[in-house]
Amino acid sequence: GRGTASDAAGGGGDVKAHFVFIPIMFQGHLIPAVDTALLLATHGALATVVVTPSNTGRVRPAVDFARKSGLPVRLVELPLELAAEGLPDGADDVDRVPPDMWANYFRALARLRAPLERHLRAHGPFPTCVVADFCHPWARELAASLGHNVERFDAYGGVADDNELVVVPGLERKVEVSRAQAPGFFRGSPGFEKFADEVEQVLAEADGIVTNSFVEMEPEYVAGYAEARRMKVWTVGPVSLFHQRATTLASRGNTAAIDADECLRWLDGKEPSSVVYVSFGSIAHAEPKQVVELGLGLEASGHPFIWVVKNADQHGEDVTEFLRELEARVAGRGLLIRGWAPQVLILSHAAVGGFVTHSGWNPTVEAITTGLPVVTWPHFADQFLNAKFAVEVLGVGVDVGVMEPVMYRLDQKEIVVGREVVEEAVRSIMDGGDEWEERRRVRALAAKARVAVEEGGSSHGNLLDLIKNFEFKVAAGCGAIA
Ligand code: UDP
Repeated sequence: GRGTASDAAGGGGDVKAHFVFIPIMFQGHLIPAVDTALLLATHGALATVVVTPSNTGRVRPAVDFARKSGLPVRLVELPLELAAEGLPDGADDVDRVPPDMWANYFRALARLRAPLERHLRAHGPFPTCVVADFCHPWARELAASLGHNVERFDAYGGVADDNELVVVPGLERKVEVSRAQAPGFFRGSPGFEKFADEVEQVLAEADGIVTNSFVEMEPEYVAGYAEARRMKVWTVGPVSLFHQRATTLASRGNTAAIDADECLRWLDGKEPSSVVYVSFGSIAHAEPKQVVELGLGLEASGHPFIWVVKNADQHGEDVTEFLRELEARVAGRGLLIRGWAPQVLILSHAAVGGFVTHSGWNPTVEAITTGLPVVTWPHFADQFLNAKFAVEVLGVGVDVGVMEPVMYRLDQKEIVVGREVVEEAVRSIMDGGDEWEERRRVRALAAKARVAVEEGGSSHGNLLDLIKNFEFKVAAGCGAIA
């Protein structure tokens, strides 16, 4: 099993450090690597040292001695595939590598990756750090592939059902997700295995993360993320607050399918906080059946609404006809935008009072920035986590109740949220008035968001810090990438 790592998954306890040393097998590298491993072990960290058979004798006595005195240190002996690289028997000993075969020797070392990874996965605890000699460039991929948090904590270990809820490890607040809801970016998508590894690798090796958030909204998660990744997190948001004028706000993204002034005039005619805005973002799309149910639910809610219907012309004649009829029935009360909406311009208008969102990260932050409670309706990717964050952690909305992703899955089930559910969800964020706890919370966050981007605020400070960091590096002649 995975010992300590799986223990942590259950209760949020600490994961003990487990260092895997991969020295190059020259004695000048091997000996100090073992010494360093032993030093770490004296402080309670588990240390594993990888050796090839001809070298075991050179380090085994020191390791055995340390183990007898109770230090948590182990040797893993793995043979090199010498013949595959044309090397003679025994040439895992550098003293016996033929002088013209050094390139072959290094290629043989690179073949250690797969058996080593198999060994480490089979024998717990799961490694938390790979200390590889710089002559083992292949170790980078190994470390990346061992580096996923979900694996490190083994959160989904032993969970056969993709829809079973599992407690997210390492968080103070109990949040539950299923593998289907949060598989990790690109995980579980056939054909994306290598790509998912590479994405993780880049994340693991970055100098830091620049993110559209502000620390006052989620202090424990910003700190937790920085700690888990051991890197700087620059929260510089809400970034949409860069735009201080309607014209530039309306220019974000595609050309809007509605004239901004017309849109504002429509909103000007409505009571404060009376309009619900409905959009599923730039990627997610609804099935024809869902479009109909959503429309009927909005109509039944009795509230004024702006509904952004993506690909309105691609749902077939019936839906086109349905939308036309609906528009006529709700004339003056419901505004359909067929295509791109000037979203933040709309959300910023005082007449808007709620947001039905697919829970992309940006709309989540935009709702908070504009002080709007949300109905969360996640579709895929990080959206289930964002929805839980909004509803369970921040307490700024209600969830529509979709439990499984509706896009990018091969075993696509038909998931349609019925009109009554839509109606009820809309009512629950719109009927509570100014005193509704969720509305008060989101308005308080909106005020904090504004402070964060002002001079002296946290996001403002992070922007300056970000610039300073990279000015220094350029000045030192390292270049931004170093
Ligand atoms: N957006 C917009 N008009 C639209 C749809 C989206 O202005 O009709 C903007 C929205 O304000 C947000 C971004 O596009 O800033 C979409 O971000 P999100 O995180 O939702 O990503 P998606 O799921 O759309 O990729």
